[in-house]
Formats: sequence, structure tokens, C-alpha cells
Amino acid sequence: MKHFSFCPLCSKKLEKALIDGRDRMYCPSCSWVHYINPLPVAVAYTINKNNELLVIRRAHEPALNEWALPGGFLEAGEEPYEGCLRELMEETSLNGKIDSLIGIYHREVELYGSLLVVAYRVTVADDTITINHELFEAGFYPHHLIPEVRIPLHLQIIKDAAQLRPL
Ligand SMILES: [Zn+2]
Repeated sequence: MKHFSFCPLCSKKLEKALIDGRDRMYCPSCSWVHYINPLPVAVAYTINKNNELLVIRRAHEPALNEWALPGGFLEAGEEPYEGCLRELMEETSLNGKIDSLIGIYHREVELYGSLLVVAYRVTVADDTITINHELFEAGFYPHHLIPEVRIPLHLQIIKDAAQLRPL
């Protein structure tokens, strides 16, 4: 998480003050306040025609080498569902379709700080996968054969997805 010492607008030294109920850095010269907001992430819980779940093994931090659901940071100007499908396409070349919203979550991650995570259930008609450099492997698994997912948030999303109406 990046912290400013100097005002990005007028370059004066920032000071600490209690603003809107929290200690924040602000600029005594131009009143700029360093608000720290969560970064938005989209996650794709992706199901093929056989109702198998897509899991990927991550080739980068955080959670290097862990089995996970695909996903990534939203870009500016992008709808959350577009970012979800874009990340799925980039990582696996799968052309997904949004089925429903599973949930919206908050998590703290050491590398990035606060995250706001939007998780969708996504379906694919064609489940032919081509992985990119972000993954070691990816595959569709029947629910009882899914490799061990240990990321607490992804486990929560898998659990919450089970509460949705069946496909
Ligand atoms: Zn300033």
C-alpha cells in the first residue's frame, strides 16, 4: 500500500488529521486528503455444460501456486461484469457469459491492502482452455474432485455459489 508524504497536487508536506472519523494524511496548503479506498476485483466462478467448476493454479503472488478461482483487478471505466469476463478470457481464453451475482466481499491482502471483490457465476458453452502466463494450470472439475482451494475468500465464494438456484 502506497503512502504519500507530500501532496501530489501542490508538493507541500502532508500532515495527519482526524477526518471523517479516521486518521488521514491531508495537505494543510490545498486541503487535499489522502483517502485510502479498496481496490476493486472481479472473480469468476465458472461452470461448464457438465456443471464442472473451473479452478486455476496461480503462477504469481499473492497466493503463488495456490488453486483458486480466476479473476483480477477491474480497469477504470469498465463494468464489473466486463472485468470479470475479460479476466477469465485473458487467463484461460474462455468466452464466458454472466449468469448471476454471487456476492460482494471485502478482504485485506498484504500486497495490495483493502480489496472489494465482486464474484459472479459465469457459464461457458465451449470449455477449451488455453492458459496465459499468470497460471500454471487450469481445468474443469466435478465438485467432489476439485483440487484443494485454500484461499479463504475463494472458499467462501464456492460456498455461497452453492446457495444460488441450480443452473
Ligand atoms: Zn496540497
